[in-house]
Amino acid sequence: MKVAVFSTKTYDRQFLEAANSPIQHELVFFEPLLNRDTAILAAGFPCVCVFVHDQVDAATLEILAAGGTHLIALRCAGFNNVDLATAAKLGITIVRVPAYSPYGVAEHAVGLILSLNRKIHRAYNRVREGNFSLNGLLGFNLNDRTVGIIGTGKIGLILGQIMKGFGCHLLAYDVYHNPELEALGGKYVELPEIFAKSDIISLHCPLMPQTHHLINSSAIAQMKPGMMIINTSRGALIDTQAVIEGLKSGQIGYLGVDVYEQESELFFEDLSGEIIQDDVFQRLTTFPNVLITGHQAFFTEEALRNIAETTFANITDIEQSRSCNNEIRHQPEKTLVA
Ligand code: NAD
Repeated sequence: MKVAVFSTKTYDRQFLEAANSPIQHELVFFEPLLNRDTAILAAGFPCVCVFVHDQVDAATLEILAAGGTHLIALRCAGFNNVDLATAAKLGITIVRVPAYSPYGVAEHAVGLILSLNRKIHRAYNRVREGNFSLNGLLGFNLNDRTVGIIGTGKIGLILGQIMKGFGCHLLAYDVYHNPELEALGGKYVELPEIFAKSDIISLHCPLMPQTHHLINSSAIAQMKPGMMIINTSRGALIDTQAVIEGLKSGQIGYLGVDVYEQESELFFEDLSGEIIQDDVFQRLTTFPNVLITGHQAFFTEEALRNIAETTFANITDIEQSRSCNNEIRHQPEKTLVA
């Protein structure tokens, strides 16, 4: 099939071309994001392939449908950037890669926890400048601490397994209970108990209307003073302004995020030397106890290979009119927020 691949970086191209070589779909790579302004580039392509920041909104979908597109292959799991209702109305099929890096994301969350706790990001800079003082680098043992995991699917479970290895107690919140998490000794409780008892809270649930700004000023007020929040899921799970207030008061002792509510304006681009206009993001970067990575938790060799192989398997299934397990069907009551 003729596939217009948007938001392509060199590393995407390398893994996509390798996975496509036995299949021979006709790939054309576009560097820009897909949105209503760039959608015209896909005219004549039955399939469009996109990633997390591409804006597959109603206006974009109308342009794609008019140009003959009937399949959108997401190279990611989350589909909060797709207007599923409009896609269904236009007869456009949406497929995704439901799991490509659960170990990579969970391991990255642990990397953020360890770096923040032991101040490794600060120690790295100090030592390079010949400053070997330990002042301000005091950490705490993870052993015997309580970790609250919100969302105990594939990634949340693996985080639980790893933190169990550190000797942590596991509290969990999810709309479904995962027996594997319970087998680890994890205890499901309601959110107020997670907030009140956790030394570290790690977010692993999807972004939906019910989870939008899950971490807000009311939640933060219930937390243990000086606790740590980790978000490798989706930026809008956190009300960033409320978190900034929590950091300023000391109620939040540490913040590690791989995702940010307005990240599509920033992440995946080299903006060094440019003036960043997002004052909220810039304020976050000024705290010594905040560690931000630019949506790289998934970014492992295994994940890129898996994304590429699953994407082409999905496209081939639809091209050959086979049923595809990774098709996303519009369910009005479960529509995700953008
Ligand atoms: P998953 O579907 O396996 O698990 C998600 C869990 O969240 C499920 O157990 C589900 O029941 C639960 N959940 C649903 N609604 C909830 C609610 N209202 N409150 C609490 N829990 C709820 O997904 P996963 O593979 O573990 O991925 C988790 C999230 O990680 C994804 O939603 C995605 O946004 C994010 N992600 C980030 C990266 C990255 O690079 N940073 C990469 C992949 C995925």
